[in-house]
Amino acid sequence: MMEAKVRLYVDQPLAPGQAVALTADQAHYLFSVMRLGKGAPVALFNGRDGEWRAEVAEAGKRGGVLVCDVQTRALLMPPDLWLLFAPIKKARTDFIVEKAVEMGARRIVPVQTRHTNSERIRQDRLQAHAVEAAEQCGGTFVPEVADLMALDRLLVGWPAGRRILWCDESLVGAQAGLSGAEAGPWAILIGPEGGFSEGEKAKLRAMPAVLPVSLGPRILRADTAAVAALALWQASLGDWR
Ligand code: SAH
Repeated sequence: MMEAKVRLYVDQPLAPGQAVALTADQAHYLFSVMRLGKGAPVALFNGRDGEWRAEVAEAGKRGGVLVCDVQTRALLMPPDLWLLFAPIKKARTDFIVEKAVEMGARRIVPVQTRHTNSERIRQDRLQAHAVEAAEQCGGTFVPEVADLMALDRLLVGWPAGRRILWCDESLVGAQAGLSGAEAGPWAILIGPEGGFSEGEKAKLRAMPAVLPVSLGPRILRADTAAVAALALWQASLGDWR
């Protein structure tokens, strides 16, 4: 059996013999860019049913049909970890979303803090980046990218039982580590280039759910800090163990 060269996310059910209709964009990508023809294998996932081997049944200019054959991988859910981050410049924000998917975050939440540089994000564009990252890294799950939320509001309605790993730049130089922390639902919180405001720090310090953490002896840029914190959490409490 030929190995699939293309992995594609589709928002449709996947099951043996299931036909999957392609959008114009997907058809363009498979047939014009990747030059696949009838009978070519494609790996499909939808975030729910694992990964499936499918074959091109119809190839058209503006559409096409794939037919599912067998499941090639079971669904691998990332641990119950959210990444909260203050959006920065466009390319670096894209990078954070891409890396959060690769590193195995379950939900990605852009937060507006006092010193957040950007007031708006394009949620749909960031969600599309998450899909692309999952296609590329072999993931079978696509985390939701939430709309931009104000940090204050998010903290007021914070769900009971979910802990917050607060990457606190004022702890720079302290020992980094999560010793003693228990597995369970968590969220990582990364601040903007300007850091957290005094008011935000006071609020975070007062919350029992919050565990402040250092990311070592150097101040990292927000995008680096996001990847470092995800690695630290995954290795201590997540699916790297
Ligand atoms: N301008 C700020 C740094 C912001 S860095 C200052 O100079 O203090 C962006 C974010 O990355 C921070 O808000 C924090 O969440 C995280 N971060 C960067 N380096 C860190 C470190 N050494 N320890 C903990 N968090 C860090």
